[in-house]
Amino acid sequence: MDKELYIIGAGPGGLTAGIYSLRNKIKATIIEKFMPGGNMLITEKIENYPGFPDGIKGIELAEKMKQQFLNLGGEIIQGEVVDIELKGEEKKIYLSDGKEIKTPVIIIATGSSRKKLGVKGEEEFTGKGVSYCAICDGFFFKNKTIAVVGGGDSALEEAIYLTRFVDKCYLIHRREEFRGAKYLQHQIEKNKKIVPVIPYVVEEIKGKEKVEKIIIRNKKTEEIKELKVDGIFISVGQKPNVEFLKGKLNTDSSGYLIVNEKMETSEKKVFACGDVIRKQLYQVVTACAEGAIAAFFATKYIESEPGSK
Ligand code: NAP
Repeated sequence: MDKELYIIGAGPGGLTAGIYSLRNKIKATIIEKFMPGGNMLITEKIENYPGFPDGIKGIELAEKMKQQFLNLGGEIIQGEVVDIELKGEEKKIYLSDGKEIKTPVIIIATGSSRKKLGVKGEEEFTGKGVSYCAICDGFFFKNKTIAVVGGGDSALEEAIYLTRFVDKCYLIHRREEFRGAKYLQHQIEKNKKIVPVIPYVVEEIKGKEKVEKIIIRNKKTEEIKELKVDGIFISVGQKPNVEFLKGKLNTDSSGYLIVNEKMETSEKKVFACGDVIRKQLYQVVTACAEGAIAAFFATKYIESEPGSK
């Protein structure tokens, strides 16, 4: 395997792109900042990825995908990409440790991260009662009262998950209808520990050493209330991880990368897949499919280069 490509990000999109590249006899190296798995690592159970009729833990599916990639001879290097040069035949990737990588083809699979609420007290109490990951921190709130903010699939799933530990969970959402899937809404209705607080927004998070209460405002009546809570889980959507690109690729107004049907970005030989791209459905299964397509067309470029068999 003398031809190679680099993939940035080892979530389901990046790992699948790697698997498809390796099976096409192209050496694939993934650069990952944290650990392989992406947002699968913060998903308790994945019930809509085909092949696992009883569902599978996110961390287990991440491990299986990583192992499949490694078994085929793939390499994962830990590092944070801080800048990139995408013009011309030779692309350059710059890591935070000063390392520079040259490659003809790049697949960007950096996914998305949790958005912040942007309210007073949020920064100050992060890690002291403010959390963005129920799977990581839920255990610390045994028999406590907490709030989950958001009305999408993630917020609903997390509220349900957290009731394993907590005594009471306020589910604070800014509208009267939840955005999340109907089957999750039914589970919320049936769960006696979950108290929907709608249509409210969080105005401030307060406490001394850790979170003690939150100030909320009714969106219709403007009434201000105080809720005593030990923790607050913020789940108000995602933002694409594109900072390192510094505006070098076309995006939509929210920063998601725009790709064509080959998963190619606005720059030739630069592909993208998974939660970092603009699309209609953000799922593990769609990220994998896009990873396969990106690798298929990326390897076509490499195979057509002079000197290739
Ligand atoms: P999302 O679907 O974008 O939902 C974000 C929620 O946060 C919305 O209810 C939104 O309110 C609310 N929100 C946004 N900004 C806010 C603010 N400043 N203050 C208060 N509330 C705010 O995000 P997500 O739930 O993280 O999901 C992301 C994607 O992953 C979605 O496509 C989702 O379907 C997918 N996902 C799927 C599964 C699954 O299939 N089981 C699980 C998790 C995630 P509004 O509704 O008023 O806009």
